[in-house]
Amino acid sequence: MREITEKKDIRSMDFCELQAEMEALGEKKFRAVQLYQWMHQKLAGSFDEMTNLPKSFREKLKDEYTYSMPEVVERLVSSIDGTEKYLFRLADGNVVESVLMRYHHGNSVCISTQVGCRMGCRFCASTLGGLTRNLCPSEMLGEVYQIQKITGERVSHLVAMGTGEPLDNYDHFLKFLRMLTDEHGLHLSQRNVTVSTCGIVENIRRLADEKLQITLALSLHASSQEKRKELMPIAFKYDLKDVLDACRYYFDRTGRRVTFEYSLVGGVNDTKEDAARLAGLVGDMNCHINLIPVNPIKERSYVQSDRSVIEAFKNKLEKYGINVTIRREMGRDINGACGQLRKSYLDQKPTEEIKEGDAAL
Ligand code: SAH
Repeated sequence: MREITEKKDIRSMDFCELQAEMEALGEKKFRAVQLYQWMHQKLAGSFDEMTNLPKSFREKLKDEYTYSMPEVVERLVSSIDGTEKYLFRLADGNVVESVLMRYHHGNSVCISTQVGCRMGCRFCASTLGGLTRNLCPSEMLGEVYQIQKITGERVSHLVAMGTGEPLDNYDHFLKFLRMLTDEHGLHLSQRNVTVSTCGIVENIRRLADEKLQITLALSLHASSQEKRKELMPIAFKYDLKDVLDACRYYFDRTGRRVTFEYSLVGGVNDTKEDAARLAGLVGDMNCHINLIPVNPIKERSYVQSDRSVIEAFKNKLEKYGINVTIRREMGRDINGACGQLRKSYLDQKPTEEIKEGDAAL
């Protein structure tokens, strides 16, 4: 184990860092170009696959650096719409889940940004066991790379809506984004990237100042500060007004329309009064509201709103002139709420094995 932690994580290095690293090793400059290409364009699974590198150099790389792809523990493919859910094992034994969704405009991958989550949203399965650790850039890239390799299809869109709070892992997440959208990597368009956050105010503002063209999705889920506190503990830290001001700032700085996610929970936040209050909160903004029928988890008693209630909620918002959609359910036959695939895997596993994985951190 000690050996692993001493080695550096080469896939988390951006091109400049890799160049400096090769120079320090006394290697020629073009080695950095070759290596970066193998890692981020050809998506090599190991140093041994990098066949145009001299064997001695590959051995040196093995001595100095860690390099691995997340390993597929489970892959579920929907027979309805081709959506795929993956459970990946990371090098230290922890597991994370990712989803591939096929749309007419391209393939979109939903990634996890942390192992577990500490935000505590009441309806979310990802947060039940708390946070284990942040993911490194190489691990987030690995989720995308592995899915593109396995399917043989280009990934063109990315949503950070899996397990974890991306803005609670800010530096790693930002580096991951820059590498994913870099022309020397997979070169996704920034406009095809969406980051979803429960609303960490200072980091929304920081993100706005990064001058990226990505879409911000804010998990709102309530029409008042008081109601938000019932569903999202983060509301005890940040007032709704400050969260919305940060979203306005994001739009002002980037010109990107903000999406508000609103999970409809039967009898909790789905009344016409909620819809009217919600319109009052965001009606002045250039925004879009995405209504998500809550996905019930067995650990909580929340239920979905009736279809008629969901439609009425949508109509009410539309009357106020707000852009609103109901999220299309993808992969209904393999569905489970965010984080449930990982959770059911951990529930089945003997605790000893989980402890070993955690101890390897
Ligand atoms: N931490 C980020 C990403 C979370 S997952 C965030 O809070 O935005 C993406 C979205 O799914 C969030 O809006 C989250 O609140 C929502 N979500 C999580 N569990 C859900 C469930 N069981 N039903 C409906 N929406 C859920």
